[in-house]
Amino acid sequence: MEEKKILDEKDVGTHRMVVLGGGESGVGAAILGKKNGYDVFLSDGGLLKEGYKQELIANGIDFEEGGHTEERILSADEIIKSPGIPEKNELVKKIRAKGIKVIGEIELAYRFKGDAKIIAITGSNGKSTTTSLIYHICKKAGLDCALVGNIGYSFAKQVAEDPKPLYVAEISSFQLDDIETFRPDVAVLLNITEDHLDRYDYKFENYINSKFRIIENQQKEDYFIYCDDDEVITNKLNILTTNTNNLPFSMKHEVKKGGQLKGDQVLLRIQEERVSMSIYDFAIKGKHNVYNTMAAGIAACTIGIRKEMIRESVGDFQGLEHRAEHVAKVRGVEFINDSKATNVNSTWYALENIERQVVLILGGQDKGNDYSILDDLVKEKVKAIVCLGKDSSKIVNHFKNMVPAIRETSDMETCVKTCFRMATKGDVVLLSPACASFDLFKNYEQRGKLFKEAVREL
Ligand code: ADP
Repeated sequence: MEEKKILDEKDVGTHRMVVLGGGESGVGAAILGKKNGYDVFLSDGGLLKEGYKQELIANGIDFEEGGHTEERILSADEIIKSPGIPEKNELVKKIRAKGIKVIGEIELAYRFKGDAKIIAITGSNGKSTTTSLIYHICKKAGLDCALVGNIGYSFAKQVAEDPKPLYVAEISSFQLDDIETFRPDVAVLLNITEDHLDRYDYKFENYINSKFRIIENQQKEDYFIYCDDDEVITNKLNILTTNTNNLPFSMKHEVKKGGQLKGDQVLLRIQEERVSMSIYDFAIKGKHNVYNTMAAGIAACTIGIRKEMIRESVGDFQGLEHRAEHVAKVRGVEFINDSKATNVNSTWYALENIERQVVLILGGQDKGNDYSILDDLVKEKVKAIVCLGKDSSKIVNHFKNMVPAIRETSDMETCVKTCFRMATKGDVVLLSPACASFDLFKNYEQRGKLFKEAVREL
């Protein structure tokens, strides 16, 4: 039987919902709860951004910042936890000890989305790119849809303020940790490589299980699109029973249904539909983007978008900022901003796609990285590594005997100047740090922007 999505009417006005964390998702959840008659209180241990505060006030939502009133939080009927708050947080431990129900903003949005459809995209890398590409295809095809989730726009807020018949949602593993009944009509799992292990007790298995929750509520009429070349995914699927329609994609072998590469053609087969497209016509380049484009094309087929439209859309999609983004050529040296590469696997793809000698910028906040997967590519292509971070000793120790030169820097300007000195005409300077940015920057966007500024000042 279909799960009941809406709480009883008797809950209206009496259902005490506490939202922990007042960022994009928390504020969105508060607005959606309030709109549906819940008694909402938002609490943030830090300070709220002015814009969010104004939104809460405008919606008549009670909130606190700079600390938590525990009694009020612990008397909630339901807690909406921001994906940024880990289980080891003291307040969360108390909430768990009291047995209060905890869900995430995605689950709340799902509860109130009505009969709208959801295409949900997860994976360790490529989520934002693929989500944006699917959204681009849907928009071009004239569908009334919204881009939501981890990409930066609250799903709950969208449901509250401008509901749509279709949501294209980027979903992170942290968001999947707090779902319950969330069931996407189409789920996309791009890849799974070690990331965020600090949040998963340093157990890769826990992170894998979290990613697979994207299909845990799927039924036989739903679709599951996944990378069949990813052994982590296929090994897990071998021991899992799924209820859904599997649509694998591969660059290495044939598939009966889903997507495959044949020469330079991508072939998609979904139900009766057959689509073939040349990879040379794809707007976003590189092997990883062939995977992303295949996944997006399959997703578009499952919702009945015509093949001509899919072909046209994958050809004119503008890639995203900070993902293998060409910045400038300065005296023959090309600068590429891949600041979004916050784990080793995305750096691997960035390096793999470059055919020239590279001065590589690595470093930042390490999340338990295993740098050895980069060894072969570094030996082959990297002439120098310039570290950018507060503490780069792990990177220096790992690579010092592998590359001709290695330098440590801790600010962007020095870093870019150092790279430029070490590069010669025809080389590429690649910012693809394999680490989070929080040791020196607000986020990866700021890191990327400062990189571009420093390059333009050379
Ligand atoms: P996410 O939202 O999952 O972080 P993005 O699309 O923002 O993914 O890309 C993040 C980084 O991963 C970028 O450096 C990008 O070049 C790289 N990347 C994109 N797609 C893939 C993929 N399928 N496999 C590996 N790396 C990828």
